[in-house]
Amino acid sequence: MNPSHIEHIGIAVRNLDDSIQFYEKVLGLQCYNIEEVKDQKVRTAFFQVGDTKIELLESTEEDGPISKYIEKKGEGVHHIAFAVENIEEKLRIAQDNGVRLIDKEPRKGAEGLDIAFLHPKSTHGVLTELCEDKTKRRINS
Ligand code: ZN
Repeated sequence: MNPSHIEHIGIAVRNLDDSIQFYEKVLGLQCYNIEEVKDQKVRTAFFQVGDTKIELLESTEEDGPISKYIEKKGEGVHHIAFAVENIEEKLRIAQDNGVRLIDKEPRKGAEGLDIAFLHPKSTHGVLTELCEDKTKRRINS
């Protein structure tokens, strides 16, 4: 799939504001964006670390996926997102390799990225996200 880099690491947290404190005060990173993604029932906070972002995820609803995740496993790393080009093709490659797709088609994630998830049962336990910044592609080509 040739990912160019790890676009972000998604971390499930109980309380976004408390967690931001740790990343800002202790790690010395700067939160540059807080965004609600209604579709996924989350509020997200972003920090840039080199080419990679940290995406903190707080559930906005009790029955949301992040809420359920924390109930089962507690706070912690939730998913890893790889930056790819031509995400539709990469999803086809995954499927051709027998990987179970959570999203058969890309959808809109935070920061306007096109995203799709691969099922952790097919990826040795890691919820894996593919994402593509199509605005970037247009600028580059
Ligand atoms: Zn993500």
